[in-house]
Amino acid sequence: MNDKKTGLMEIINISSARWQTQLKNVIHTHSQLSDSLNYSLNYRTSNHITTHSPDIDASALKNSINKDILEKVIEKYPMRITPYYLSLIRSVGDAIWKQAVPDVSELLDTVNIDDPLHEEPQSPVPSIIHRYPDRVIFLVSNICAMYCRHCMRKRKVGINNTLSPINRVDKSTQTHFPDHLSYSHNINNYDELDWTDKKKNYISQGLSYIGQNKNIRDVILSGGDPLMLSTEDLDRILFSIRQFDHVETIRIHTRVLCTLPFRITENLASVLEKYHPIYINTHFNHPAEITDEAATACSMLARAGIPLGCQTVLLRGVNDTPEIMTDLMRTLIKIRVKPYYLHHPDAVEGTAHFRPSLKVGLGIMKALRGSLTGIAIPQYMIDLPGGYGKVPMLPDYIKSKDDNKAVVENYQGKTCEYIF
Ligand code: SF4
Repeated sequence: MNDKKTGLMEIINISSARWQTQLKNVIHTHSQLSDSLNYSLNYRTSNHITTHSPDIDASALKNSINKDILEKVIEKYPMRITPYYLSLIRSVGDAIWKQAVPDVSELLDTVNIDDPLHEEPQSPVPSIIHRYPDRVIFLVSNICAMYCRHCMRKRKVGINNTLSPINRVDKSTQTHFPDHLSYSHNINNYDELDWTDKKKNYISQGLSYIGQNKNIRDVILSGGDPLMLSTEDLDRILFSIRQFDHVETIRIHTRVLCTLPFRITENLASVLEKYHPIYINTHFNHPAEITDEAATACSMLARAGIPLGCQTVLLRGVNDTPEIMTDLMRTLIKIRVKPYYLHHPDAVEGTAHFRPSLKVGLGIMKALRGSLTGIAIPQYMIDLPGGYGKVPMLPDYIKSKDDNKAVVENYQGKTCEYIF
């Protein structure tokens, strides 16, 4: 924010601005965050509170934003919060806050490692993760509209010295939008494209890998957030992928529908629909994230014929109850987003405080089965460490079985014998 005195209410008022404006106004330093929240929500920084010690209200101190701690966390794991997402916070420590605001717990995780899924060893070139034979993840950007505190790729996103030589966050101008791959010309002819420029090697290596591996049928654009690229750059990358006949589907993994819905424009939708079949998987974790703005963004993409899925992450203190999860899934299908996966959070360094037990997840899945239509029920997935891949987890519906019959429990807990 340019004016550090600008508060949350003012931020809310600009929520109808276009996405570029939103991005320009992102909050990415502790002082901006403190000022915004102090001004509008009347919470005090710990510096101020300590002057009133010992008569301080313990809950106020607990809820304070500690500059020094915040700075240390941000040093390791960057912070960026869009004004739009900030406007969804209703109270300190609520489900929106927890996903956006750095927490000292991120530094206290001594158990987990930064890449438990072995993405790095499964990366034949820097921009590609190749785990399953027929599909690859193509990391085209390492910036995001917001840096989620629970991110499974925390080791890379928003960090200046990893991943892509493009789209790195420039610490001096963190609010600037990436223009590293800006092309003004219309894309009509693949031969016109020049991927040889040194600056573009990162992308061209990924494209070459996809082109040479004819068993790749499915390319997932991920990062970071691919929709943080300019529309022109995205157009260029999609155009290039579509030159490979063996690539059948393209998926885009993006959280902007949730954190920066203004990024979705009619122009973007019309560019994406040139490259069908295109699928988008997004990432909503709480019903409070599903706003009119998010619904409008989803609707624009759905009208362009793009199937929308949601990869929710089960997060302790955010959405780990059957009631919240039921509400979320029910609301998602109302905005034409199919709940696809419910991810058990990976054991990624800096995120241990978000991890619930598997029992909690299974209990939620059981509750969803009784209360929701089948299209609103995601698959509950764990991702095995060491790059062994995803496995669905199911509540234990079969109480006993032999070769001819099984005793099966229904959603009400009633058992019934089922003859094969
Ligand atoms: S948008 Fe996705 S990649 Fe980016 S920080 Fe959030 S979870 Fe990580």
